[in-house]
Amino acid sequence: MKYCIKCGKQIPVEAEFCTYCGAKQELQTSDDSISENAQKSQKNMPSGIKTTKLVIGILMIILSVFIGLQSLMVGLGDTVTANGHQSGSQGIFVGLLFLGAGIVYIVTRKQIKMGADIAGVIIMLLSWLIAQGDVGEFTDLLIYAWMSFIIGVGFFVWHLLINRKAKKQ
Ligand SMILES: [Zn+2]
Repeated sequence: MKYCIKCGKQIPVEAEFCTYCGAKQELQTSDDSISENAQKSQKNMPSGIKTTKLVIGILMIILSVFIGLQSLMVGLGDTVTANGHQSGSQGIFVGLLFLGAGIVYIVTRKQIKMGADIAGVIIMLLSWLIAQGDVGEFTDLLIYAWMSFIIGVGFFVWHLLINRKAKKQ
């Protein structure tokens, strides 16, 4: 609903002339649609980041199973050879963190609030830190570590940029 600019009576939004006094109305529809679009972009996440989070999240869950299995093998090797490495258990932790962060990214991909991405970056940095220890023969763990770092920081910064852009509009 809008109001006549001359007499102030309530008139239909699409009315070009007041239905009471006949005064010509200024077209406000363009302004309205701009502010509506701005509100929409603040409420909805761009589809690019949503899709990426879904895809990366699924890949992370699949990878977590793979990391887990690999860790069990490495852990077994460490036990058999008694080489003193802890990389098997490090790997299990990294796998669990991948699983957790993957689920967080999928579930919260539509959220405009930063909370989940802050949690995500913390989880992934933790995974990165764990794999900085003595990895022994388990050199793949270093690859997973840098993957964690890039995924965690990447989504955090991406989300931050989207929110900044939305505020500017
Ligand atoms: Zn009027």
